[in-house]
Amino acid sequence: MLTQFRGCLLGLAIGDALGAPVEFDKLTDIRARFGPDGITDLVPWHGLPAGSYTDDTQMTLATIRGMLAAHAAGEPLAGNGWATAVYRAYLEWLATQDDPAQRRAPGNTCLSALRSGKMGSLGATLNYSKGCGGAMRTAPVGLAFRGAEAFRHGAEYAVITHGHPSGYLSAGFMAELIGHLLDRLSLDEGLDRSSETLRIYPGHEETLAKVVQARALAENGTAIDPAIREIGEGWVGEEALGVAIFCALRFPDDYRGAVIAGANHDGDVDSTASMAGAILGTIHGAEAIPAEWIDKIENRQEIESLAVRMHEIWG
Ligand SMILES: [Mg+2]
Repeated sequence: MLTQFRGCLLGLAIGDALGAPVEFDKLTDIRARFGPDGITDLVPWHGLPAGSYTDDTQMTLATIRGMLAAHAAGEPLAGNGWATAVYRAYLEWLATQDDPAQRRAPGNTCLSALRSGKMGSLGATLNYSKGCGGAMRTAPVGLAFRGAEAFRHGAEYAVITHGHPSGYLSAGFMAELIGHLLDRLSLDEGLDRSSETLRIYPGHEETLAKVVQARALAENGTAIDPAIREIGEGWVGEEALGVAIFCALRFPDDYRGAVIAGANHDGDVDSTASMAGAILGTIHGAEAIPAEWIDKIENRQEIESLAVRMHEIWG
């Protein structure tokens, strides 16, 4: 099981680092620069070495630090103590953003929500944003919680900054899905069960529609480029979730194939490759990730030690 914890965290960080150099490029430009297969390897970007990740991984690691703090404090699962601890960890992340070396194209909604001095919650949202800044940072929630509880925690951590249902329900879905995959349910079964939970929440229709669409496109054999174009660019939560699910379903046994598909389209490729990487890494464990990528990933030691710590507590 430890290999699945490592696979989830390394998988999401490496997917993020793969897409990072081309986050704001169109697919035609990516192919003009890297060849017909697009970007297929970790390369340097913005003066940073190959394997450097973005805000997606920074905030995901903050989510974990918040959860570990809540666990250490003995916070009851039912209250808002866990979300409050995660909020504090996000504020610590925000403080790092004054350092230019730590600014990795952070999302405006995350910055403005955290700067507001208020913590968004399901009962008191801060805005109506559905950017994918919530969904991109909640995969490891599923390593600690299961089922509807994972969903609720994922949604509560995302709504800290993102108030539109598609912004926080996509995050809840991602969290629950990872938990099912850790328990060795098939991807299809994990998607079914997470969809059942999703349906309970008001405002779920848009997110559910993207999950259904992604599954249909993967099943009917639509080619990768048109399929992803149909799902969307992934800047919003439900589209990022849809693209990640499509990539995982199209490459169910191939971590590399899934994150390359997630990193090569017109949209928010670091987020979609990162989420696809979390899914494949959790299913197959760290052994499925190319070793030379694991060697190159930024901050590998902390990522590995967070995986070990999570496994000690929740494995
Ligand atoms: Mg990013």
